Amino acid sequence: MKESEIRPQQLFNRYLELSRRDIERFLSDRTRFKEVSCPACGCEERKPGLVKFEFSYVLCASCGSLYLSPRPTVEMYKYYYQEAESVKFWSTHFYRETAEARRQEIFKPRALLVGEWAKKSGIKSNGEGLFVDIGSGYAIFLEEVRRLELFGQIMGIEPESNLAKVGRYRGFDIIEKRLEDIEDGEVGADFATAFEVLEHAFNPLEFLGAARRILRPGGILMFTTLTVSGFDIQVLWENSKSVYPPHHINLLSTQGMRDLVARSGLRLIDLCTPGELDVDIVHNIQRENPAIQLPSFVASIINAPDDVRTNFQNFLKANELSSHIRVIGAR
Ligand SMILES: [Zn+2]
Repeated sequence: MKESEIRPQQLFNRYLELSRRDIERFLSDRTRFKEVSCPACGCEERKPGLVKFEFSYVLCASCGSLYLSPRPTVEMYKYYYQEAESVKFWSTHFYRETAEARRQEIFKPRALLVGEWAKKSGIKSNGEGLFVDIGSGYAIFLEEVRRLELFGQIMGIEPESNLAKVGRYRGFDIIEKRLEDIEDGEVGADFATAFEVLEHAFNPLEFLGAARRILRPGGILMFTTLTVSGFDIQVLWENSKSVYPPHHINLLSTQGMRDLVARSGLRLIDLCTPGELDVDIVHNIQRENPAIQLPSFVASIINAPDDVRTNFQNFLKANELSSHIRVIGAR
């Protein structure tokens, strides 16, 4: 898998440019922003992290998570997600134009993984189980899960009304709400997933608590997000395109993730960083902007022959040092 297939540079840069304009339109009044404590471990103590588009990210003194504080309020986000051009661009152009590449490279393998973990965890495979994807978007992933023929019912949770419509058109039940607004007992999933959602959540503890609530006892949650412990973010820091306000506001460390899962009441079953792209991402940034100074060791890795780059990426994966993190927990 290459970054350019799932995140073509031109489209992605356009998205970032629109995000910056949206910030000026909707989020210029910083006086309403809210200070928060570490979204992973709850610690109040912090160190300066980095500044991006005049937004301050801080580093938790205890667990090393990088997070935006102060941050726009939940109400500001609700309005922003309804109105912002960048959000529309993401769900129309960006997502649509990369949909098929994502189906092959991301959604199919993810569905297979769900199948593996469902079997491993003894989820009933008699066609009675309920599967729920949080943030189901274009429902392409739901289609891939349907192909597994493991679950009796497959459902999405998608607050964005156009996307919810697409999901229903593809034949799925879609709950058109934010996860946090779902009532206790409304859903009882055997297996739930939330891919690349946590980094956006105003309050990750509340988000994971809500994800736990939609599971039946013994139900499994699989989720992925970005981690600040990963290679490309550590190396690129403020130049990383993964760190951008107001969308990505929580970049938990691997330690912070363990703390957060424990606080949410989920039982941690597995945590790993199976990312494939760290080396490719650093390489692409350097090609795009040669002025960025990289440590010479890093430069020698990213410019090395393919087999060396692959070995290095495998090392990152095996040692919780890739920026793509996957967690499996149980209620
Ligand atoms: Zn912390």
